[in-house]
Formats: sequence, structure tokens, C-alpha cells
Amino acid sequence: MRNILITGGAGFLGSHLCEYFIKKDDNVICLDNLYTGSLKNVEHLFQYENFTFINHDIIEPIDIEVDTIFNFACPASPPQYQKDPVFTFKTSVWGILNMLELAKKNNATIIQASTSEVYGNPLQHPQRESYLGNTNCFGKRSCYDEGKRSAESLMYDYFHQYGVDIKIARIFNTYGPRLNKDDGRVVSNFITQALRGEDITIYGDGEQTRSFCYVSDLIAGIIRLSKQPKEYTGPLNIGNPKEFTIKELAELIIKKINSNSKLVEMPLPADDPVKRRPDITKAKADLNWEPSVELNEGLDFAIEYYRTVL
Ligand code: NAD
Ligand code: UDP
Repeated sequence: MRNILITGGAGFLGSHLCEYFIKKDDNVICLDNLYTGSLKNVEHLFQYENFTFINHDIIEPIDIEVDTIFNFACPASPPQYQKDPVFTFKTSVWGILNMLELAKKNNATIIQASTSEVYGNPLQHPQRESYLGNTNCFGKRSCYDEGKRSAESLMYDYFHQYGVDIKIARIFNTYGPRLNKDDGRVVSNFITQALRGEDITIYGDGEQTRSFCYVSDLIAGIIRLSKQPKEYTGPLNIGNPKEFTIKELAELIIKKINSNSKLVEMPLPADDPVKRRPDITKAKADLNWEPSVELNEGLDFAIEYYRTVL
């Protein structure tokens, strides 16, 4: 049995990874400080002998035996990661440093949850892995954007300097069950607002775009990436290339829920990227992977989930 460490395992994506490896009969070590995550996300896994939960902050070093590390610990929602930017930066940079040290000591593979945010407010569209990005190193988002960019640098340094087996996934907006209803991201906000009949909060004019990936597609891509040979480092875009304006997303959700909610415009947060769509040519060619769940279908699963938690 392999020891799989999933940092951020009690969060949205981490909990789906924990589930995947529990089903594979691996030893799953779910490590989380519960900053944005919740034990509710993994309570159904506590019954399994091969599941262990460790309450730990990756800003602090840890010494455990591991074969593979999925480093998913980090608040991912803009309001959450901007609440305590120093914590976010430390999680991104000190956290990955601690995890890379652990990977080096154990000769383990490490997969980093990087992000489309490394492209900033992109001047190239769609975004290819070769694009170096357009970030603001002292903006509201910089703790996250620059933190994740620094983490990628450190991943490469450990690869070149120590031969650590690294893999970098650049994850684009992902949604689905267990995306926290209160964490402020657009899909959870809009669905919960529509279900409650509250106003739908469109930031700016709603013409900005995002490309939404359903969680099962994302996990399938991450797993395929983790199985690539040692020389395969990424970075690799993992996301759904179908692009929607935020207004289109709101209208689709209102229609599906048959809600009376009205769209209201609110101020656009600083540095909010105007458009975002992954070029997934590389993932298609190298992993033989592409998403299969359309937004129309994935939203139904997500709506069902929020109906149960509200
Ligand atoms: P999430 O907030 O649901 O999960 C993050 C988890 O990490 C939470 O359980 C939180 O408690 C834990 N955590 C945060 N800081 C920690 C620390 N210092 N030590 C230990 N645990 C800590 O977010 P998510 O959407 O599941 O995102 C998971 C990872 O994927 C993040 O690294 C995020 O940057 C990345 N990502 C996610 C998306 C997305 O659309 N969901 C997009 C790009 C990148
Ligand atoms: N957004 C919005 N209303 C909300 C939440 C978000 O209009 O209630 C917008 C936000 O300004 C951004 C997009 O939706 O343009 C995606 O936001 P999210 O926080 O989900 O993730 P981001 O891609 O910005 O990190």
C-alpha cells in the first residue's frame, strides 16, 4: 500500500482526491488546518482503516513517511485568500518548501495545485502553458498569484537541484459538490443566491469570462498527470476550455432553478481578470485527457448538492 499525503484534504478538491485514493485501497493521509476546509467534507471517510486525518498547518515542517504528495492546501477563493494575505503567501511558499523537503527526504512524487492565476490578467487568450503571464506583484491578488508563481519556481529548483519528481497542475476554475457554499466563489454564490431567491451579485458588468470545469473531470486530469514519468514536470493546464461570461453563468443558473432572483451589479474587485480560458492542447496530447462534463450538466449536480446543504 502506498502512502498518499493530501494536503488541504478537508477542502473542496482535496476531499475528492482523498475519496479517489481510499477507493484504490491506498493509505490516505489527509492533512489540513481547517482554515477553509471542514471535517464534514471527509467525515464519510473516517470509517476506513486506510484513512488518517492530521490537523497540521503546512507552514510548519512535518516528518511522515510518504510515497506521493498532492499539495492542495491553500485558500482558493479570492475573499478567503485576501483575508490574511501573509498567511496565504506563507502557505503558498513556506508550505511548498516544507512539502518539497518531505518529498526529497522520502524520494516521493509531489504534485502541486498551481492555478490559472499565475497568468494574472492575461494578454494572451486562450492561455497556453508557455505564456509568462501578466500579474501585479503588489495587488490584492498578489499573495495568491505571486505565492503560487513562487511555488512553481521552488518546484523547479528542487527538480533541477535535487532531482525531486515534481508535477505542476495549473488548475482553472473548478466547481461541484463540496465547494463551500460560503466561500465567496462565483458558482457557489450564484447557486445559493438563486436557491434562496436573493439578488445575484454580479461584480462589474458581468462581461468578464471564466471557463468552468466540473470536479470529476479535474480529478481525472490530476490523477493522469500524477502517473506521468519522472521527467514529466508540467506545468500543465487542467480545465474546461468552454468559456462563459459571468452574466451568462448567472442567467443559466436562474433558468435552471426557475428562481425569481434579480441580477444586481456590484463593484468589480481590483485586478479581477477580464478573461480566462485554458488552452488544453498539451493535456489532450500528453495525458489523452479532456473534460467530458458540460457546464449545463455539472450545474445540475452542483445545484443538487447546494439544495442538500442549505
Ligand atoms: P479549499 O479552500 O476548499 O481547500 C483548501 C484546503 O486547504 C482547505 O481545507 C484549507 O483548510 C486547507 N489549508 C489552507 N491553508 C492551509 C495550511 N496552511 N495548512 C494546512 N491546510 C491548509 O479550496 P480548493 O478549491 O479545494 O483548492 C485546493 C487547491 O487547488 C488550492 O491550492 C488552490 O489554490 C488550488 N486551485 C483550485 C482551483 C479551483 O477552482 N477550485 C483553481 C485553481 C487552483
Ligand atoms: N463574481 C461575481 N459575483 C460573485 C462572485 C464572483 O460576479 O458573487 C465574479 C468575479 O468578479 C470573477 C468571477 O466571478 O470575475 C470568478 O470569480 P471567483 O471568485 O469564482 O474566482 P476567480 O476566477 O476570480 O478566482
